[in-house]
Amino acid sequence: MKQDIFKYDENIYQIDVFMENKPGRMSCYYIDSTNPILIEVGPSNSFPYLISSLESLGINEVKRSAMTHLHLDHIGGIGHLVEKYKEHFVYIHELGLKHLPNPEKLWKAVSEVYTEEWLSTNWGEIKPTPINNLRSLKDKELIDLGNGRKLEAIYGPGHAKHHYTFYDEYSKTLFMGDTLGLIYPHGNFVQPNLPPPDFNKEVLFNTLDELYTLDLKYVALAHFGIHKNPYQLIMNAKENIELWIDFVTKLPNLSINEATESLKIWLSENYRILGVDEETINNYINNGNFKMQIQGIKKYLHID
Ligand SMILES: [Zn+2]
Repeated sequence: MKQDIFKYDENIYQIDVFMENKPGRMSCYYIDSTNPILIEVGPSNSFPYLISSLESLGINEVKRSAMTHLHLDHIGGIGHLVEKYKEHFVYIHELGLKHLPNPEKLWKAVSEVYTEEWLSTNWGEIKPTPINNLRSLKDKELIDLGNGRKLEAIYGPGHAKHHYTFYDEYSKTLFMGDTLGLIYPHGNFVQPNLPPPDFNKEVLFNTLDELYTLDLKYVALAHFGIHKNPYQLIMNAKENIELWIDFVTKLPNLSINEATESLKIWLSENYRILGVDEETINNYINNGNFKMQIQGIKKYLHID
């Protein structure tokens, strides 16, 4: 089975879980400290890739994990995780305790955005997680990584109301989930990720401003990978979110599909002006759910 694993400072492994069978879409992380932890599991269909990568590192048992938020590209495989490792427990926002033992409602809500067929084919179905395998997080909670190393859970809404980021002060790495946005390979700019129903600019900017005050060396994104210029990227994310909101505000009265196409064309042109190569542009344009972005911004602006 194909594998793509990078080792960063202080025993942090970045694992590509080949979301939708494509490289560079979804990263999970494993902090191999004295008391290790997995961050994110990825969708159901990615679970075999995650396990094969962990086993190639000699890791045959994972006792605990931490999930940034409840979107299915991040937690879809959670039922597989607790089924494979019986003693495993998962740190997650308290809403997870409500939804994950009976994930039908969550599945239905996501199906309305992606369609059930697309979800089953691309991400795979979600299995229930017993409540005993779940631990709800509190803001600023410290998770013990052993030998005095701690992972701080920082509540960070704006992308989703159930979002946490995780800060490892020892390596100065911030595991951001989707709080920052997307950076696909070769990109050095951030593409916003502003889905309905929770995207809210003021809330997200408050979160980003709080995270900016941390002592950072790396930001670790779900989509995708670890990046070494955290402060520049946080500034860039805020600038681009403002530009996207401005673009949607000024759109004439178009159908959702027309608005989505306009956003893609505008974005491609902007990327060309920035000197981005065509392959990278295609990577961004063909792999983003731009309809969802328009819906998220419109809902925030109350123009949906
Ligand atoms: Zn995501």
